[in-house]
Amino acid sequence: MKIKRRNFVKGLGAVGALGVFAAGSASTLKAVSKGWWAGEKPVDLLAGNALPPECSVDPETGEVIANPDQYVANGLCTACTSLCGIRARVDRKTNQVLRVSGNPYHPLSTAPALDYDVRISDSFKAMSGFKGQGLEQRSVACSRGNAALDMLADPKRVLTPLKRVGSRGAGQWEPISYEQLLNEVVEGGNLFGEGQVDGLRAIRDTKTPIDPNAPELGPRSNQLAMINGFKNGRLSFAKRFGVLSFGSKNFTGHRGNCGLTMRGGYAALLGDWKKYPHLKPDYSNCEYYLSIGTAPGNAGNPFKRQAMLLAEARSTGKMKYVIVDPVQSNSNSLASGTRSEWLPITPGTDGALVMGMIRWIIENGRYNEQFLSQPNAAAAKQAGELSWSNATHLVVTDSSSPLDGTILRADALGIGSAESMVVIDQASGQPVAQDRANGPARLFYAETIKVKDQQIAVKTALQVLFDEARKQTLAEYSEACGVPVKTIVRLAQEFTSYGRRAVADTHGGTMQSNGFYTAYSIVMLNALVGNLNWKGGMSSGGGRYADVKPGPRYNMVKFPGKVGGKGVTISRQDFPYEKTSEYKRKKKTGNPYPADGPWFPLAAGLQPEFVLGGLNSYPYPLKAVMFWNTNPVYGQSGLSNQLDKLRDPKRIPLLICIDSFVSETAAECDYIVPDTSLYEYFASTTPWSGTLTKISTVGWPAVDAPQQTTPAGDPISMESFLIDVAKRMDLPGFGDKAIPDADGKLWPLNRPQDWYLRLFANIAFDGKPVPDANDEDMNLTGLDRFAPRLAEVLKPEEQRKVAYVMSHGGRFESEKESYQADGLTHKYKAPMQIYNETLAHHRNSMTGERFHGTARWIPPVFLNGDKLSDTYPAAKWPFKLVSSKSQFMNSGTISAKRLRDLKPSNELAMHADDARRLGVKSGDRLRLVTASGEAVGVVSVRDGIMPGVIGIEHGFGHWRFGADAMSFGQQKLTPDSAYSAGVAINRLGLTDSSRPGVSTLADFVLGANARNGLPARVEKV
Ligand code: SF4
Repeated sequence: MKIKRRNFVKGLGAVGALGVFAAGSASTLKAVSKGWWAGEKPVDLLAGNALPPECSVDPETGEVIANPDQYVANGLCTACTSLCGIRARVDRKTNQVLRVSGNPYHPLSTAPALDYDVRISDSFKAMSGFKGQGLEQRSVACSRGNAALDMLADPKRVLTPLKRVGSRGAGQWEPISYEQLLNEVVEGGNLFGEGQVDGLRAIRDTKTPIDPNAPELGPRSNQLAMINGFKNGRLSFAKRFGVLSFGSKNFTGHRGNCGLTMRGGYAALLGDWKKYPHLKPDYSNCEYYLSIGTAPGNAGNPFKRQAMLLAEARSTGKMKYVIVDPVQSNSNSLASGTRSEWLPITPGTDGALVMGMIRWIIENGRYNEQFLSQPNAAAAKQAGELSWSNATHLVVTDSSSPLDGTILRADALGIGSAESMVVIDQASGQPVAQDRANGPARLFYAETIKVKDQQIAVKTALQVLFDEARKQTLAEYSEACGVPVKTIVRLAQEFTSYGRRAVADTHGGTMQSNGFYTAYSIVMLNALVGNLNWKGGMSSGGGRYADVKPGPRYNMVKFPGKVGGKGVTISRQDFPYEKTSEYKRKKKTGNPYPADGPWFPLAAGLQPEFVLGGLNSYPYPLKAVMFWNTNPVYGQSGLSNQLDKLRDPKRIPLLICIDSFVSETAAECDYIVPDTSLYEYFASTTPWSGTLTKISTVGWPAVDAPQQTTPAGDPISMESFLIDVAKRMDLPGFGDKAIPDADGKLWPLNRPQDWYLRLFANIAFDGKPVPDANDEDMNLTGLDRFAPRLAEVLKPEEQRKVAYVMSHGGRFESEKESYQADGLTHKYKAPMQIYNETLAHHRNSMTGERFHGTARWIPPVFLNGDKLSDTYPAAKWPFKLVSSKSQFMNSGTISAKRLRDLKPSNELAMHADDARRLGVKSGDRLRLVTASGEAVGVVSVRDGIMPGVIGIEHGFGHWRFGADAMSFGQQKLTPDSAYSAGVAINRLGLTDSSRPGVSTLADFVLGANARNGLPARVEKV
């Protein structure tokens, strides 16, 4: 493809920039052009003051004429956790992002995506009106992704290191030099006139135990905790510093404040508590989509792709979907008739609905018998199945047996190995070792069986689930969730009428105190129809190319002197209480339960308990916390009412926040370190799920960051700050000899690009290496600016291949590889767990009770098992608060002005019947009261909400982040009411008095933050 460059305003007139579009929209463009009504002459008579396009394409010949004043950087959007590939148009002269749309190669932004071998210039043509391709190949950013660029130039951005003046949280800051920041953070001292504060050098002791009486807690280096945000492609760098080099076990992302209950439900179903895999539907081919606790098209993940494919399915009629949600969202459309349905439900009770469905499905034989009855992978394959489950495995259900709760092993009966489970052969009715069974086994069985001279009760896993579901009648389930019995039955009937092309999906809407079992129940529906790995069924995603994991060019996780984290995290996750010294000590003198604080042996990424553990100094005191890319003071329901604890330096002496803004969390810290913002940093990531092919998305600095730079010339950011801290402390894995290549030769890690460009090289060379980028690819995407950095860091043979990956915004397997016949190409291999033995093995550390091993209905509870409804009876607390997601705003985007213009505030959504009863109308002000807090908001009366529920969109009601007065030395920031508009639901969050110390309400199995279904009352203001 030949590209021409011309004067672009001329080019615009000559061939019609974005040719056909401009001509067809002339009158509209004229109308919107600045000054038309004021008599001002616009820049261009045809296109008005619209941005000049990046290129024009001759409608006759397809010739691409590039605009020399712009480049188009394919990269990554991190304005929400969907992590879409975007295409940022940048002005070469001003170095400003002009506009953001979707990366046409990226499956999260378009369907179908362009093939990876299409050159950049051809991607321009494919997106133009040439031969009508433009609409077909349209690739978009959502409204949030479009407007997030406003954040880059927000005058409230932190551009220099800041140190607090006066007490914590007072909002007074002094700008300090980078050198002072490094010196004080590393060396400590009497930093605030409040006494000695240990710096990172003193804290890093990887040998001495924190507590010699409890050596399992690990070394003193664990007294630094790094509390981070979502996997935005930079987390592994922070982990290299905190875990692999500094030697702290205390490193977490934000999962425990986001979708941990959903992830836990899938971890149980998929039998992997380490990697926490999860599933999403094959949206393109499923025919019945049941969504519970997520709002595709409004929020959820991947937000934009779900919305696109749902809209398409709605218009073509190839899918019916039902959204179960207390609040009606944009996911539904009346115009699509019966193809989309909103089903209101009482918050926190989805588990009752689903267990009612499960009961009906099993009672009526509507489950997939062929799938469920296969006892092992070989039998499943022989039967033509693409996955299998443990539905037929025998579970010991005898409280008198030491084996109670375990799955019976074949060696106990002398019929096989200790690794093999026992099943009842369908043909003979006899117990056989599961790995020796060569055909289907019985699905239902509840008998006693002789094990070592004792008759013990056993049941198949499916029988255990069935018996659990039968503990309540459909009428009781209906009463609990507010969904009529006939609707529960109809949903179960419908769900089981589409074969393997019915899917049940969930996400963060299960963040409630019974959230884990709710999520396990919802995802269990997929096992009952056997849809895993099938076209139109559920998928674990296509995976990613090697990047951080040892890759073909460099090993990014191995280096001389690497330490790694040891011991117990401050959140008590992934470690059973029964292995602690505290347990052993208490057991010697009597009942070891309750523990002095809750333990969460199955949890991962438990951010809320990192904060609470630090504030409670349990199981040990923290000396420093580093927050990055996260805002738990705003995002953790119930935390903001207890800020006096965070402000007490005796609890945690040193708080550092790396952030672009003075968020609610940053405002409570001792130091704020500026960070780069989206489009300004390097990153390497992959979609969470919901795509079927292999995808690695990369981000790289499309524009320069505005903040102060380090002596090496890099903007101060998480990466440059940690590199300089590490080098000052002589930590391993940083400096001149840090990253081994495939031959073992060590390469430097002195600047952010030293890490990311080598990681991109791994992506480029994984499997068959990508092609080389040519000059044209590099010029059109602005990588020509980058050529010196590529040459400085990479080997000659790597430079153009890395440039190819960067120019395309990542590496993407062809979507043609999505399927093999009726199945998915990328399959999840392990069996689905109808009964999860690991779950059943662990106990609630507050009560000593064992967790139940399969899905079940439990109403919202405190950690000690007491029902919330007993403490907060409906007579006194008649409403339930529920958090909903905005399609515009999230916790970090309030500084995007265009988003605020679209949605300036949130409202208190209330059902019309409730409003009538209370004499309230839209626009009235209402005070919400929970046991922990109050807030005043504006009512919006609507029919699209469950009666008795108040819905509040997340993302509004900030009290820091620009909403309050603040000083940076001489610079005074005045409060901006645009940032504080609306209500932050998390300020109304509850505590849990059934546990000692500082608390927020949590899921009783995993400790995930509980923010849905908060009991409340309302008062008219
Ligand atoms: S859904 Fe929107 S905000 Fe989220 S990553 Fe994609 S484009 Fe960005």
